[in-house]
Amino acid sequence: MANCAIVGINWGDEGKGRMVDLLTEDYDVVVRFQGGGNAGHTVINEKGKFALHLLPSGIFRSGVVNILGNGIAMDPENLWMEMQDVMAKGVEITPDNLKISDRASLLLPWHRNMDELEEKRLADKKYGSTKQGIAPFYSDKYQKKTVLAGELFYPEELKVHLADLMEWKNLTLTKVYGAKPYTMEMIEEWLEIYCEKIKPYVCDTGAFLKEAQANGKNILFEAQLGSLRDLDYGIYPYTTSSNTTAAYAPIGSGLPSTKIDDVVGVVKAYSTCVGEGPFVCEMFGDEAEELRKNGFEYGAKTGRPRRVGPIDIVATRYGVEVQAATAIALTKLDVLSYMDKIPVCTHYLLNGEQTDRFPFPSALKNAKPVIEYFDGWKCDISGARSWDDLPKAAQEYVTFIEKQIGCPIKYVSVGPERDSIVIR
Ligand code: GDP
Repeated sequence: MANCAIVGINWGDEGKGRMVDLLTEDYDVVVRFQGGGNAGHTVINEKGKFALHLLPSGIFRSGVVNILGNGIAMDPENLWMEMQDVMAKGVEITPDNLKISDRASLLLPWHRNMDELEEKRLADKKYGSTKQGIAPFYSDKYQKKTVLAGELFYPEELKVHLADLMEWKNLTLTKVYGAKPYTMEMIEEWLEIYCEKIKPYVCDTGAFLKEAQANGKNILFEAQLGSLRDLDYGIYPYTTSSNTTAAYAPIGSGLPSTKIDDVVGVVKAYSTCVGEGPFVCEMFGDEAEELRKNGFEYGAKTGRPRRVGPIDIVATRYGVEVQAATAIALTKLDVLSYMDKIPVCTHYLLNGEQTDRFPFPSALKNAKPVIEYFDGWKCDISGARSWDDLPKAAQEYVTFIEKQIGCPIKYVSVGPERDSIVIR
């Protein structure tokens, strides 16, 4: 039996959802272990096109059990809306194929509100939050000022707990931000409309996973965002508020004793980044616009145009190291087919010296990209299904990246559809 984590190597949006959707064929259980509804996985399969935010990407495969682990930001409102959306397209979601950890902390109504108020206060110094309440949620979780999903089974105690938290949060809302306070009626409405809907899915997922492991089931851990957005190893403070790394998967899933056998790191054939923060390899002007258009680089959650650039070897090598990736899935290679010459950021120039080490976050703003150009292949490669189907120039591009980042590229994705893949 094998456990596998699918993680992002870069800034997120690498195509993890697409890879989970493909690889779930070999897995019995898919677990989301961190983050919340603040990012989106786009999945295209025979059931249609879906933008998933919280639901694990194994939800489309019959027989696969999907778990929202204790490490996620469990937002009852967003999850219920997403479930309704996906179910409306004919996908079955029941307590048999979706299970929510009773130890997952709940994202409370004021978290979204706090996120918005703080971004507004920061004005031009904003972090570029998706305003889904993720940062306020995780700060409260670590302050022990939120509630666990399992508390829904103790309604009387839960109301007392929520009233205490509300009293505390209202102090910040009214005195710091001059915003309106919450009332217990509002909280009861939230409990009634959203929490009651997700309650049937809440259970002891840790016990389920332990049993699944004992029975030799294959477990897939699905991450959100990427190495460079990891709270501890990313471009702090322009990171997310959770750990996006494979090493966190056992903890955030509810299976702390497990060892992960394979870590598939997803790398895009070029770079994209949503929101604020240093992005050394960024392209601008027409060149950027053309790449953005060809790759359809607009956020799945917000629709924001993504910042784009050539593949960044320095950041990618660091991302591979942070994730301890054992194999790489290189996605969106087909997008580069229009280019005569393909730029690659091979090094950074920092304080007049060339470096291949990813710098400390504060130094990133002074780093400049060193660009090398590769021959383009200038033909449609979306029909490639084997290594030999790829033109020589595309093979050379892939093998160059592989050598530079020090990890085998096992999958090359040439289109968003499930079968648009070359497996080496
Ligand atoms: P995730 O959050 O890492 O799953 O990534 P996103 O879903 O935000 O972004 C990846 C986007 O690229 C989605 O729209 C996918 O459908 C699309 N995609 C994934 N792999 C490929 C590929 O190989 N080629 C093309 N053209 N699109 C791809």
